Amino acid sequence: MVGHVILFPFMAQGHITPFIALTELLHRRWPELTITIINTPRNIQSIQSSFPDPIPTIRFRSLPFSPSDHGLPPNTESLAGLPFPQFLYLLIASESLRPQFTQLLHQIITEDGGRVPSCIISDNFLSWTVDIAEKLNIFHSTLITSGTYGTAIAFTLWLHMPKLPAIETQYLSLPDFPEINIHWSQLPRRLFLPDDNFASKYSSFLQRQTLLCFKSNAILLNTVKEFETAGLRMLEKLITGVPLFPIGPLLCQSSPPPSSSLSLSLSLSLSSSSSCVEWLDKHSPGTVLYISFGSQNSINASQMMELAAGLEASEKAFIWVIRPPFGVDVTGEFKLDQWLPEGFEERMREKKQGLLVHAWAPQVEILAHESTSAFLSHCGWNSVLESLSHGVPIIGWPLGAEQFYNSMFLEEVGVCVELGRGNREKMSGIKVERERVKKVVEMVMGGGEKGVEMKKKAMEISGMIRGALMEVDIDGGLG
Ligand code: UDP
Repeated sequence: MVGHVILFPFMAQGHITPFIALTELLHRRWPELTITIINTPRNIQSIQSSFPDPIPTIRFRSLPFSPSDHGLPPNTESLAGLPFPQFLYLLIASESLRPQFTQLLHQIITEDGGRVPSCIISDNFLSWTVDIAEKLNIFHSTLITSGTYGTAIAFTLWLHMPKLPAIETQYLSLPDFPEINIHWSQLPRRLFLPDDNFASKYSSFLQRQTLLCFKSNAILLNTVKEFETAGLRMLEKLITGVPLFPIGPLLCQSSPPPSSSLSLSLSLSLSSSSSCVEWLDKHSPGTVLYISFGSQNSINASQMMELAAGLEASEKAFIWVIRPPFGVDVTGEFKLDQWLPEGFEERMREKKQGLLVHAWAPQVEILAHESTSAFLSHCGWNSVLESLSHGVPIIGWPLGAEQFYNSMFLEEVGVCVELGRGNREKMSGIKVERERVKKVVEMVMGGGEKGVEMKKKAMEISGMIRGALMEVDIDGGLG
């Protein structure tokens, strides 16, 4: 055995996917390296499904986890679709896995005849593993799965919470980056509520993980340095004394659906992969808008109605990955039509204008298809990299976390126009009405100056991302 790396992703699809890509990358470069991926039972099953042909050097181990012990419904092991405060219960539950993780490490060492793993690579939300690695004298790396610009802003906010005068001011100049002004609708405002019990638990969890992450031996970043030069400089300012390695893009050919019960309750269509591609095949190159808000987020019911009406009015073709609106508790069958204009799905099907996909679509295949022209996205970092690696410009509608800063960064770079912000209009002040949807879609897809510029820039970034991918393969002797 040349070495042994333990990989421990956080329990959310957007975090698991880059860890799967990292596994593939490590295996391609060092086929004899043993890689053990650790996670909760349902997540491990879903991760394992990405490796249909067993590879002897890639191993999978489950951590015992009982969602009900943490106030979560049975089978909940992923953030997908979890509302606040259950979202928070799962975050906190991840930290309480500490004894199970330690015990599993000891078990692995015993099974390996006393050989201690060479390295643990954990998600930055699981930085409590730093101490455990230190005690066992194991090298510890943190993988930050999101972009550097968004992460630097999120870290600054988390580290200064709850002291920021955020609620009353419209714009906040960031403590470590005074040149950057954040609008109050881009802040995790719940974290600033002084008497909110959940908020204080949430913010102390984030602060703790961030400070521990700064004690890691090395930090790996899912980005490409030519693309995120500014973000890298920002992180270097925040994190001193720990080497930072931009090793991205960590891209997979496809993403398994999240392990949560959400996808099952939405009667996930298993034929959606081939049907999406067949549908795209029937459209001309560069004519289809792909719409998805990632694995966790949804827009609200009235936003869904306006988006649908605006799309219809734009007459542009689209594939929309649709799931229940934000704030609607869905149990049982998912009925689309109650949240859409009357007869919408049927009309779109008849006119061949739109395809509605329930809950989960083969995103990477769609973005790689020549018919896809633009991506209406919540700007989750995997979606951003997947889109730009294929030269597809973005219509941004960030809904949470660091997505707001990703969208800001992409607008600055010139590959994104923000259509909406958040799913509570009262807070963002941005109301997404049908006229606005039509206007933005036409601006990006209609062949005008702005759309052409965005496409050109997206192709340029695609070159940078593909260049970084090739570099990895050539260095690994595969070129
Ligand atoms: N994804 C997918 N099909 C879907 C929705 C999402 O394959 O219908 C994948 C997508 O390709 C990406 C990941 O799920 O790799 C979502 O990660 P991202 O960081 O974009 O957003 P998050 O879900 O973490 O908010």
